Amino acid sequence: MKILVAVKRVIDYNVKPRVKSDGSGVDLANVKMAMNPFDEIAVEEAVRLKEAGVASEVVVVSAGVAQSQEVLRTALAMGADRAVLVESDVELQPLAVAKLLAAVAARENPQLVLLGKQAIDNDAGQTGQKLAALLGWPQATFAFKTEVDGQQLLVTREIDGGLERVALDLPAVVTTDLRLNSPRYVTLPNIMKAKKKPLETLSPEALGVDVAPRLKVLEVSEPPARKGGVMVPDVAALIEKLRNEAKVI
Ligand code: AMP
Repeated sequence: MKILVAVKRVIDYNVKPRVKSDGSGVDLANVKMAMNPFDEIAVEEAVRLKEAGVASEVVVVSAGVAQSQEVLRTALAMGADRAVLVESDVELQPLAVAKLLAAVAARENPQLVLLGKQAIDNDAGQTGQKLAALLGWPQATFAFKTEVDGQQLLVTREIDGGLERVALDLPAVVTTDLRLNSPRYVTLPNIMKAKKKPLETLSPEALGVDVAPRLKVLEVSEPPARKGGVMVPDVAALIEKLRNEAKVI
């Protein structure tokens, strides 16, 4: 089984994002970037399936600026075999990414495409679902556990109030949730080995995909500053405040 894993370069989750002074977006100048955490989980799952003898090849793909090579190299150091960068300086929205991934899937013919459930920069949570629709493949989102059973993939999904188990015919699209696994740390020898692994660069034009944004961002603003908390002397005072000030009861 060949697995394709989509990895996005995003602002590192430890960094507090700053909004540009003109409100046109988030300031990325001199900001530490890293692989989207849900995509690390997707790479880990693919590498584990390879180590278990289920997958034969793990190909990682990223769409974005040239520096996205860094997250691809990290994925290669985690154990992926090969990387594809679809290089573009255009701001790529989920529909454009899904179209690019569909075009890469058409070239690579994977039996499984793994993505994160959401990118932590835009919190869109759309790309996997759009990709499955474009390919016409079954999808299981928010995966908590995966098991391969012949030509089927059994996925336990996190849903409101519990877990749901679904069986998908392959090829299929799966998006990862937080509890699927704990991604490994990359070791120095593996980082060195990853430098020699193949990384192919393509363009959206070569894949025949129009990546022009379909949505226009009107304004980006900081969330309102939180007001300071107040200590109340007793439960009666708390209820009085909830009723008369917050008006929530
Ligand atoms: P989103 O729909 O933007 O929240 O992203 C969901 C998932 O789609 C991410 O966790 C990635 O696996 C994948 N993805 C989104 N954008 C990109 C990108 N530019 N390159 C590669 N994968 C991406």
